[in-house]
Amino acid sequence: MSLTRTQVGIVGAGPAGLMLSHLLHLEGIESVVIESQSRTYCEQRVRAGLLEQASVDLLVQSGAGERLRREALVHEGIELCFNHRRHRIDLFELTGRKVTIYGQQEVVKDLIQARLNAGGQLLFESEAIGFDDPLSAEPVIRYRKDGDVREVRCDFIAGCDGFHGVCRASMPAGVLTRYERVYPFGWLGILAEVPPASKELVYANHERGFALLTMRSLILSRLYLQCAPDENLDEWADARIWEELNTRCAAEAGFAVRDGPIIQKSVTALRSFVTEPMQFGKLFLAGDAAHIVPPTGAKGMNLALADVYVLARALAQFYRNGQDELLNCYSETCLRRVWRVQQFSWWMTYMLHRFGDDTAFEHRRQIAELEYVTRSRAAAQSLAENYAGLPLP
Ligand SMILES: Cc1cc2nc3c(=O)[nH]c(=O)nc-3n(C[C@H](O)[C@H](O)[C@H](O)COP(=O)(O)OP(=O)(O)OC[C@H]3O[C@@H](n4cnc5c(N)ncnc54)[C@H](O)[C@@H]3O)c2cc1C
Repeated sequence: MSLTRTQVGIVGAGPAGLMLSHLLHLEGIESVVIESQSRTYCEQRVRAGLLEQASVDLLVQSGAGERLRREALVHEGIELCFNHRRHRIDLFELTGRKVTIYGQQEVVKDLIQARLNAGGQLLFESEAIGFDDPLSAEPVIRYRKDGDVREVRCDFIAGCDGFHGVCRASMPAGVLTRYERVYPFGWLGILAEVPPASKELVYANHERGFALLTMRSLILSRLYLQCAPDENLDEWADARIWEELNTRCAAEAGFAVRDGPIIQKSVTALRSFVTEPMQFGKLFLAGDAAHIVPPTGAKGMNLALADVYVLARALAQFYRNGQDELLNCYSETCLRRVWRVQQFSWWMTYMLHRFGDDTAFEHRRQIAELEYVTRSRAAAQSLAENYAGLPLP
């Protein structure tokens, strides 16, 4: 059996795992990243696409943001559409902060490149299958590669392997508590080769359900419709999707969602999920492995980056002077932000979606809330502060 030794064994090459490996390298700490998928698959996986200011600053200041600075789209506001009218929330004027459109797969590509340029060890097509006691002095991660079982021996394990990963699932019984809410709907998402219908993101509350107009670039639109969590995509011909987007986002005369070739279609179920604590012995969970937010607040990738920023700082302190205070309060530090973001994502979701058993009362309550958020500076500022994102912990 082949055995590798490193300081930090990282499971998962998503935004969390790659950023952690990159930040550790900048601190002179060695890591190995174990990823079940191929490099191509990771670089083409279309998911999130909105970065908070703090995430952009982290990428740029750590030297992985050069292409982002050249190619990303910077937005100063978002629009809320209800009662067939659009209302702008000026994020920049309200908070002094902006948000940035840059696909998650681009962040992943940039971080992979940064790690490879620095001689980093990324093991693709290597599936972690478990680990030895995280309470031991030198925990071991076992993974399968080309049919063989191999091992990485390390000081610490970072479980950055997403919601369906092995790290959280391998924790001893009774250690973790799950907090979860599953929503009775999903998002039908498309990626289309067409310029964005609107300069900024449009979040629509409509009697027929929520819709979101967003983008990945000036020639690539990302568009979403609220649907059943198990929606059958076969029932959604392209023409039906465009028609539904136009119905739900209809506002002033002359506005239309332009159609174009759809290059990807998917359905994602929505859930809120937190596991506590985010650490056990020498195993630390980060990103989707520890928590999931409904995408209405555009927070998933940002939260993953914030976790590993905290973890990298704590590991740096440990390797620099042997102190473990920051490591010991990793979970507590992250969870404070996680729950703030959970609350915001839940609130946006409740304000904008139809829940199936909605009464006329519920719809009017939502409209009253949207009117308040768009008319009251204090309410708009609260939304803007959370949407544009909090400073890193
Ligand atoms: C379909 C989908 C659409 C989304 N859309 C949005 C959106 O529009 N907006 C938004 O803000 N957020 C969105 N999200 C959430 C956002 O993408 C995540 O929050 C983000 O990917 C979290 O990063 P991560 O690194 O923690 O996890 P991930 O990106 O999930 O990375 C985990 C990695 O671990 C690997 N892995 C898993 N198990 C193993 C194993 N046993 N061994 C080795 N490797 C393993 C996986 O292959 C993956 O590469 C979406 C998520 C999904 C699933």
